[in-house]
Amino acid sequence: MVRDREQTTRQVQQLLEKDRTCPNEACPDFGKTKTGNIIKYGHTDGGRQRYLCRTCGKTFTATRGTPFYLLKTNWADIIEALAAVAMGAPPEAIAEAKKIKVETVLRWIQRASEHAEAVEEILLRNFRVTRVELDELWSYVKNKGEKKGIRKPTKPGHSGVGEP
Ligand SMILES: [Zn+2]
Repeated sequence: MVRDREQTTRQVQQLLEKDRTCPNEACPDFGKTKTGNIIKYGHTDGGRQRYLCRTCGKTFTATRGTPFYLLKTNWADIIEALAAVAMGAPPEAIAEAKKIKVETVLRWIQRASEHAEAVEEILLRNFRVTRVELDELWSYVKNKGEKKGIRKPTKPGHSGVGEP
């Protein structure tokens, strides 16, 4: 099990290579994903992968070009939670099972949606989640946690129902 989880995390991190962004704050493409400006560019003397931003011409290593959370996040947990939500589990149930807040689960979905391609690949390949289920998953992000068929706690004065 532990090995599977490590494998999942590693797979996601590999796929996230595509979402690498330029760490140069002066660069027009700073922090932007999917612009195609980052290419692999040899290795450092220490043998670490080096990258080049074709927009600003600066080189950097993997650690610098990767947002901190991408390195530190336990993707196994996130992917498991996403798979469960995609297959119809309410985020509330996942939060309870993992002893975390519902907001955390929703934030994971939000965060994962920024790397939809990588996440979809893992979910389709490792968890047999279907394309339709993926669309349902991302609809959470669009609807800010609202989903058809799942009732959220009613916020006073928000729904308008029953107000004079
Ligand atoms: Zn750049």
